Formats: sequence, structure tokens, C-alpha cells
Amino acid sequence: MAAAEVGDDVLDHDPTMRALEEKAAGLLGTAAALWVPSGTMGNLIALSLHLQRGDRFLAPRGAHVLDFELGTAAWLAGGMPQPLEWNAGPGRPTADLIRTYTVQSARYDALHTTLLCLENTHNGAGGAVIPPHEHALLAAAARDGGLRVHLDGARLWNAAVSLELPPAALTVGVDTVQACLSKGLGAPVGSVVAGSTEFVTEARRMRKMLGGGVRQGGVLAAAGLVALERIDSLAEDHGNARLLAEGLAERGWDVSTPQTNIVLAGVPDVGRTLERLRKAGVLAVPMNGQVRFVTHRDVGKATIEEALRRIGRSDR
Ligand SMILES: *Cc1c(COP(=O)(O)O)cnc(C)c1O
Repeated sequence: MAAAEVGDDVLDHDPTMRALEEKAAGLLGTAAALWVPSGTMGNLIALSLHLQRGDRFLAPRGAHVLDFELGTAAWLAGGMPQPLEWNAGPGRPTADLIRTYTVQSARYDALHTTLLCLENTHNGAGGAVIPPHEHALLAAAARDGGLRVHLDGARLWNAAVSLELPPAALTVGVDTVQACLSKGLGAPVGSVVAGSTEFVTEARRMRKMLGGGVRQGGVLAAAGLVALERIDSLAEDHGNARLLAEGLAERGWDVSTPQTNIVLAGVPDVGRTLERLRKAGVLAVPMNGQVRFVTHRDVGKATIEEALRRIGRSDR
């Protein structure tokens, strides 16, 4: 970061930012990409450009854009949210369910359904992966019905590593995608929002409106470039999550089998368990009535073993 070549990204373009955006677009299989300070801003930019007031958008129940972005998809981007049940598996609807919403009403007072927002991996479903054939069917159902498709791929890299596929295999049929350089990849700041060249031109204007244009951004983009080089090592985080889940199961915990780096555990009283864990020096968060553990680059195998010793038997 200290050695990054910088320019002024508000005036014209910072060279390290440009390199990062080109690399991200290549990985995501889009024509262009734009660095943004956060995943939330990336999603907001995409949804704002896709939606108009009086529009409805579809998203799987528990999606980040529905539950963890303070309703900005509605009150800033202007879309009426329609949560979709997970009737195809954790975090994902069926294509048939999407089709039930693509029949547009001719009534003047009806919402126009214009956007499907997918999430891969699905955070609230415990880092659940949508496999490529299912993703393609969902995107096709939306497109055939005249909808656009945005992919919240905050953890798309984790999905790709879990499936042993390039990330671009999971963006087939989408108009836009957001992906985080922070979180598992370890950059302190930054996400990208990607799509067509025309989309990115408009996204740059919207980013400026939201106060997300930065000047010597190369310092931050340099961290993003390092992050993108460590995509493959997310497999270690996934292995550590499996180790944690197995250890918890041996200790009587009711745990999900992690597909990526998130482990969900069911307990009778989430608040009481989190407090006990905190006192033992193990940090976890509540997620949809469960305890959520996440592995990342600063948590190695030895740390998992130590954490398991401190966590101990399940609370019943
Ligand atoms: C974390 C996350 C975001 C938002 O990213 P921030 O950088 O925290 O704003 C968006 N979508 C999903 C699925 C996430 O997990």
C-alpha cells in the first residue's frame, strides 16, 4: 500500500485503481468494474441504477440487501422488496417461484417487477453456495420475464473456491455483480461493482453522488490487488470452518455442515451463549436466531483447536 503508484481518481483515474478494476472485471467476466468503499455502496449503486419508484425487486429471504442495508434498496433506490422463500435449498428460490412474479399486471396501480437480486454465497443461510447450473436457471427465468439481474457476490470468491470454478462461471446471465475485497480476502477497505462499460460509467457518477469517490485511491486499491491474489487460499478458511463444525458436533453442538467459511450453531438462548463465549475469548455473532462463527485469514488451525477447547460442550 505504501509503495502504490497513485494519481487522483476523482480528477481522472488513479493507475493502481485502474489496474485493480481491470483485474476484477477479468475475474468476474464483465466488461468493466468500479472500486467502491463498501459492499453496501456497491449494492446501492447497482440497485439505484436498476430500479425506479414503483418497481418491485425479488431477493431470497434474509438477503443482505433486504435485512442488513437499512432498507436503502427501498428508500434510496426506490424498489419495493419481495422476499422469496428458499424452496430450492438454503438461500435459494426455484426458477418457478421467480416466474410467478414475472407475469406483469396491466393495472395502472400495480408494481412493475424489474429486478432479481441473487446472493452467492448466501450470508444469512450460513455461506450457502448456489451451484452454477441453478444460478443460470434462476438468471434465465428472470431475464425471460424481462427482469434484470444483480448478483450480491460479497462472498462470490468463497462460492467459486468451494465449487473449484472460476468466479466468472457464477456470473452467467447477470447484468451487474458486487464483490468484496474485504472480509475473507482480507483487504481493510473495498469492494467492486461490475457490469457493462455503460453501467460502470453511470456507476462512477452515482458513486460520486454518494460521496464514494476517493483521490489517491491507489493506496486502497493496492490492498485490493493483494486480496485478489489470495482467492485460492480461501480453501484454507473453508477447511478450518469444517474443522470447527466437526469439533463442535463432537462436543454436542447442533451445527450446520459449512459449505464455505461460515458455521451456524443452534442454541436455546443465543444471547447467553454469546456472552459465555465472549468471556472465554471466542467472538461470534447472532444470525437469524443462531450463533454464527466465521473463519478468515487470521484464524489458523491452531486457533480453531484452541477455540474448541474454550468453547467446550454445547449449552443446553
Ligand atoms: C458484507 C456483505 C455486504 C456488504 O459489505 P460491506 O462492505 O460490509 O458494506 C453485502 N452483501 C453481503 C452478502 C455481505 O455479506
